[in-house]
Amino acid sequence: LAAPPLFAEHGAFAALGPRFFTELAPAPLPDPYWIGRSAALARELGLDPDWLASDEALQWFSGNALPPGARPLASVYSGHQFGVWAGQLGDGRALLLGETPGGLEVQLKGSGRTPYSRMADGRAVLRSSIREFLVSEAMHGLGIPTTRALCVVGSDLPVRRETMETAAVVTRVAPSFIRFGHFEHFSYSGQHAELKALADHVIERFYPDCRAAADPYAALLARVTERTARLIAHWQAVGFMHGVMNTDNMSILGLTIDYGPFQFMDGFDPGHICNHSDSGGRYAYDQQPAVAHWNLCALGQALLPLIGDQDRAIAAIEPFANFYSDALAARMAAKLGFARATPAIGTLVDALLVLLARERTDWSIFWRRLARQMAGAAGDPVRDLFIERAAGDAWLLQYQELVAHDPAAHSPDLMLKSNPAIVLRNHLAEQAIARAKLKDFGLLQDLLGALERPFDEHPAHPDWAGFPPDWASQIQISCSS
Ligand code: AMP
Ligand code: MG
Ligand code: MG
Repeated sequence: LAAPPLFAEHGAFAALGPRFFTELAPAPLPDPYWIGRSAALARELGLDPDWLASDEALQWFSGNALPPGARPLASVYSGHQFGVWAGQLGDGRALLLGETPGGLEVQLKGSGRTPYSRMADGRAVLRSSIREFLVSEAMHGLGIPTTRALCVVGSDLPVRRETMETAAVVTRVAPSFIRFGHFEHFSYSGQHAELKALADHVIERFYPDCRAAADPYAALLARVTERTARLIAHWQAVGFMHGVMNTDNMSILGLTIDYGPFQFMDGFDPGHICNHSDSGGRYAYDQQPAVAHWNLCALGQALLPLIGDQDRAIAAIEPFANFYSDALAARMAAKLGFARATPAIGTLVDALLVLLARERTDWSIFWRRLARQMAGAAGDPVRDLFIERAAGDAWLLQYQELVAHDPAAHSPDLMLKSNPAIVLRNHLAEQAIARAKLKDFGLLQDLLGALERPFDEHPAHPDWAGFPPDWASQIQISCSS
């Protein structure tokens, strides 16, 4: 099979010029081997999945050879980390290879040191690379905006973290990897011509309707606010926790980006902290909406030299709360089978969240069981999930009454499409990682197949949809990756 023409002449990001990045080649990865590949994303890119399995592809996506037309570069950005201005960061271990004719950027992550690596080694470990690969495609399967992952390759190259681990490279794909932190970088370093060029690039490519607005940059901020609010509502509804919502990990396109210590909620605990390094709980589940709003304020601050007027920037961000609560209400209503949110549904949801939190009921299992029960499927009853049976029955009765009040407004099918049977829980990722360390990648590939269709049942693997084992609560995932 011939190599596909992956890249157009020059990517639009590369056209921004050298103040935005440093061009450099990836570091060679010794004796790379395949860990996982997404045939689905390959097809979306116009790549033959059989070609993706080739040695040529392995060389490209380990950084050992460059695809024709590739022009690898590391971009510079800054950011607020855990609420504190961190100054210059940048792609410390990622390289943008180029842009496809379809306008998608292809990036290697873990491909060696760059001018932005600071004291770190430019590598990524097998464990975190497998997590990022699987969850990228899982989020896409859930319909949640995200950067994608084409493949992951490994090497026996040792990498030092808390213990010695081995290296891996993930190939990520997205329309753009521009973060809030890119804007902060050019704003706070006083490079306002570059700030404008960056904003114009983002508007031109991704928010063209902003061009006609009275203030295109305030319009951009308003659109990013809306997309971010919708994204966070989607996270909350599925029980996803990002873990490191620093401004350098916030996509200007409202994509989920930079997967580290993420987690899907097991037993419902609104204050759950998934990042072992986050001792203060800044990025706890129930903090995510407020943190997103805080991050948008940081973006608004960075855009002030373009917007000029502080009140206009504030006005652009102000609708966040309404966008968020409307989007969340719609998602929660859909989880209960209603196409439209109403105050009565909202009251029912509020009561449910109190109950689930008190009982620490498993988030995904509760919702999927409820969906299956309402769809008339056989299986364990929802009421068995509650220790306090009477409270669970009382809520279920209220729910049944609401459904009975207007049966035509209720759709069990919508429930089955809104409540996944499978999410990438930590223990599932851990199992795939443990097997991959033994160079057995079958589980990883099977899991990927299920995560790509999370609203289907996967009867061959009932444990994937089941309760987490006891040891799952002992898993500690930190920023180390
Ligand atoms: P993260 O917490 O993964 O989003 O990374 C924050 C910053 O640290 C970014 O600028 C990364 O590029 C950089 N970084 C993280 N890990 C490494 C590493 N092993 N080598 C070089 N840079 C890194
Ligand atoms: Mg990051
Ligand atoms: Mg907890």
